[in-house]
Amino acid sequence: MADTKYLDWPFFDARHGELARTLDAWAGANVAGHHGHDVDAECQALVRALGGAGWLKHAVGGRAYGGTADAIDTRAICLIRETLARHSGLADFAFAMQGLGSGAISLAGTPEQKAAYLPRVAAGEAIAAFALSEPDAGSDVAAMACAARLDGDHYVLDGEKTWISNGGIADFYVVFARTGEAPGARGISAFIVDSNTPGFEIAERIEVIAPHPLARLKFTGCRVPASQRVGAAGEGFKVAMRTLDVFRTSVAAASLGFARRAMDSGLDRATTRKMFGGVLGDHQLTQAKLAQMATTIDSAALLTYRAAWMRDQGHNVTREAAMAKMVATEGAQQVIDAAVQLWGGLGVVSGQPVETLYREIRALRIYEGATEVQQLIIGRDLMRAASA
Ligand SMILES: Cc1cc2nc3c(=O)[nH]c(=O)nc-3n(C[C@H](O)[C@H](O)[C@H](O)COP(=O)(O)OP(=O)(O)OC[C@H]3O[C@@H](n4cnc5c(N)ncnc54)[C@H](O)[C@@H]3O)c2cc1C
Repeated sequence: MADTKYLDWPFFDARHGELARTLDAWAGANVAGHHGHDVDAECQALVRALGGAGWLKHAVGGRAYGGTADAIDTRAICLIRETLARHSGLADFAFAMQGLGSGAISLAGTPEQKAAYLPRVAAGEAIAAFALSEPDAGSDVAAMACAARLDGDHYVLDGEKTWISNGGIADFYVVFARTGEAPGARGISAFIVDSNTPGFEIAERIEVIAPHPLARLKFTGCRVPASQRVGAAGEGFKVAMRTLDVFRTSVAAASLGFARRAMDSGLDRATTRKMFGGVLGDHQLTQAKLAQMATTIDSAALLTYRAAWMRDQGHNVTREAAMAKMVATEGAQQVIDAAVQLWGGLGVVSGQPVETLYREIRALRIYEGATEVQQLIIGRDLMRAASA
């Protein structure tokens, strides 16, 4: 493990430092180098490995359901994502999606739903997915059109979801659909849809800049028992936002992991690349670049772990999670870009570590709320507080 001084920050309990150090050793031996050539098979193997080693117990809430604790430990989730992202973007993805995909069940599921899904998610035996976005409802979630109509003791789902991570390999999807109790965000409910439910299909697989399983989903008269609804009817938007409050902070943590790997790589190059009778790092311009990279990382880490700590203390963290996500993802992009620059031509060669990072970081500035959406969340929260 590289620089671990931040694990002594007051945001963490002793168990958190222990967790990060143990995982770092495990990840170095087990997941480093997973970069996605056959992403379906690799993700399936990673989920099994993460489950078998016990790491996925942190992705679900409830000791009775396979979790390490009764409440989700945001700091543990963040440290796990940061550590995994340092070793392998795909391993981080596999962990994060087990948590995001089952988060609604941990936070708002019935005891029966928790018992049916969470132990399998924690063991790495069932793959989870979170299906909120649609072709015409991304940033504007409340514009969603996918509908769920009550018919006796079933809901009938019709419509589409897109950009769904784990689409194609998931065993179940938590799907948000319009049930119409009220217009906009107040008329949405959440449902667990098993992948073998008639009327559910993978309409298209999508390839992206840093490969991982991703798909467009289609629902045609898809009948789901009413007992599969998560939370009250019309409360689905709130369930989605509560889930994102945990996982948005963890996107910031994953960005930190990518940025720290780029920092290590940049330092390595600066201290070894011979030029002009010395090494690259002898030049003050290089030292300025390294100073900016390190400061960006520490700023992002402070915001990330403040948000995680506050959530674990029971505070509302909508503003803090948005700040962390915005600063950490944007900052990581800058740090990684600087590392590519330090590596010169080698920095843009396919498969080089910094080139892979350059592609891996990009989508994090878009998903779970693009940077502009985070700005709006922060701005609106400031306005609300000022006029209260
Ligand atoms: C790799 C990847 C994985 C994903 N995984 C999932 C998943 O598992 N589940 C899921 O439900 N979704 C997932 N998504 C979808 C993701 O959450 C959406 O892409 C995101 O919310 C943006 O929606 P959009 O793509 O429709 O862009 P749009 O909503 O069309 O936004 C385009 C751009 O407009 C800008 N913008 C947005 N709002 C404003 C505003 N108010 N003012 C000014 N500018 C603005 C932003 O720059 C934004 O990037 C994933 C996306 C990607 C790329």
